[in-house]
Amino acid sequence: MANDPGTVPQEAPRHQRQVERQGVQAVPFVQRLPQVRGGVCEFCGILDKNVPSEQQYKLCPHYRGLNLRCSYCDETKDPEEVVGHAVLNVYEHPDNPDKLVVVCDSYTCTQKHEARFRTSA
Ligand SMILES: [Zn+2]
Ligand SMILES: [Zn+2]
Repeated sequence: MANDPGTVPQEAPRHQRQVERQGVQAVPFVQRLPQVRGGVCEFCGILDKNVPSEQQYKLCPHYRGLNLRCSYCDETKDPEEVVGHAVLNVYEHPDNPDKLVVVCDSYTCTQKHEARFRTSA
């Protein structure tokens, strides 16, 4: 983007920053979406028998067009493999409606997620 020489630099940041509060009162409400079990949406089930099960969720109205992967797995894990073998818990991001937080059922990822959001199981 070219700088317009006529504009005066703005002092104020473009959007208001918010201070993150950690604590019991500040536990964000996270909206849970259907679980994806081995790639299959728990609400929609198998939608097309010709599609491998780890891709079934891509056909359902909840996750159409998405490539789900665990938000917490480290980079060495193959995300497709995780989707195909794990149960994914999916949440709307409390601060960003465009983002989803995905947690596979491995111990480490669940721990990381709970430390962040203190979900009550
Ligand atoms: Zn679905
Ligand atoms: Zn994971």
